[in-house]
Amino acid sequence: MLDYSMIIGGHSVAGQESFAVHNPATGELVGRAPNASLADLDDAVAAARGAFHAWAAQPDEARAAICGAIAGKLGEHAEDIARLLTLEQGKPLGGLGSRFELGGAQAWAGFTGTLGLPVKVVQDDNTGRVELHRKPIGVVGSITPWNWPVMIAIWHILPALRAGNTVVIKPSPFTPLSTLRTVEILNTILPKGVLNVVTSDDRSTNIGAAMSAHPGIAKIVFTGSCATGEKIMQSAARTMKRLTLELGGNDAGIVLPDCDPAAIAEGLFWGAFINNGQTCAAMKRLYVHDSIHDAVCDALVAYARNVPMGNGLTDGVALGPINNRMQHDKVSRLVADAACSGRVLLGGAPDEGLFFPVTLVADLPDDAPLIVEEQFGPALPIIRFTDTDEAIAAANASDNGLGGSVWSKDIGKAKSIALQMECGSVWINKHGAIQPNAPFGGVKRSGFGREFGEEGLFEMTDLQTLFC
Ligand code: NAD
Repeated sequence: MLDYSMIIGGHSVAGQESFAVHNPATGELVGRAPNASLADLDDAVAAARGAFHAWAAQPDEARAAICGAIAGKLGEHAEDIARLLTLEQGKPLGGLGSRFELGGAQAWAGFTGTLGLPVKVVQDDNTGRVELHRKPIGVVGSITPWNWPVMIAIWHILPALRAGNTVVIKPSPFTPLSTLRTVEILNTILPKGVLNVVTSDDRSTNIGAAMSAHPGIAKIVFTGSCATGEKIMQSAARTMKRLTLELGGNDAGIVLPDCDPAAIAEGLFWGAFINNGQTCAAMKRLYVHDSIHDAVCDALVAYARNVPMGNGLTDGVALGPINNRMQHDKVSRLVADAACSGRVLLGGAPDEGLFFPVTLVADLPDDAPLIVEEQFGPALPIIRFTDTDEAIAAANASDNGLGGSVWSKDIGKAKSIALQMECGSVWINKHGAIQPNAPFGGVKRSGFGREFGEEGLFEMTDLQTLFC
């Protein structure tokens, strides 16, 4: 099937127009997605509003149970969705690719079912009783990026539904098909209108922008770039929408002198290059103590040389192409600049099509664009330091604050450095590992609000204080 449909009010809607989605590994057509009009968006919001009261009135246990059922459905269709995801996103089917992403989606869906929203009693004495009730907000608009489209869709949808909201989701124009298919599958077990999907190529009409201004949407949960996050904040202001903004990162890793370079090379590599570096909380700057700098560079180069890149459907491939031309050109520009001012240890120039080899660059000046900007691709600057306080200051000298990591055998020392890093998540001897029970989100320009765990579920509610 090449033509995919939106799901609005439980019905398939083809839309008046459609746009093509191409495989970034081969350039071949994968399928066509509907190009929603503003009227389609209005219909989706109306369907979600129409379904809201009945859904919010469901017993809490019923909504908890549906999370388990969603995890089950994702499991049933995992292979089918994973293949589609590889075709439109480019990531490999195996390894840390599409099947891994579908496994994550199931795990997050299942875990969300175990969470609760119990009434909290803050006072109960002879002067009175005060209860805090967590109530659904209304229609939640979800806007997702192209890097982990299915998992991020589940991160948005599940807590929203679990808390009693209904949802309109809009995926990225680069990866709409896996979301269309996922929503279609989930609609087989959800009441009509509870979960709707609209897709758009962002050209003639920007449906994401229309969602953030839409008076029928009460909250936007957005994962994407800082620039788009800013626009959403501006247009959401008029309707006082609640917002969760998961934005870009420029995560630093700090490697202390007591590390064994060969032992940490694999962890450093995947901390930086998971999904070809197209991961918000991937390591995008690596600070290494002078005493082991060269040995860490050598160990990383040796590891990276053996990581196969290619078409994600080919067995054994561990990294695919960059997802789209715009991102490929951005990485190319940053690496071309870095090649002039630094020392390229591996890679350094674009390959065929949208492929770009793993690139490691040392000896860059502090203000090199590859260090200062979020590259969001397979290129990593390695920066030498001698003084730990200077490394911490350099790591923090970024507008972003999503994640960070410290690498050392001395966990106490690593922890004291980790706590000085200005970021929402910080890891010791690993980077970017996330889990459904641990809140995740950014500080500074990486956004605000948290996803996952009880804190993430709370983001999908309004608090009502009851004085008895
Ligand atoms: P993007 O901001 O270009 O697009 C994200 C989504 O926003 C897409 O669905 C797009 O269609 C939509 N959009 C475009 N213009 C809009 C507008 N004016 N109003 C509302 N929506 C609009 O981001 P991208 O290139 O798809 O994703 C890459 C970025 O996402 C990187 O910066 C990455 O770090 C970030 N990201 C962050 C997290 C996180 O959890 N913090 C996770 C994944 C990706």
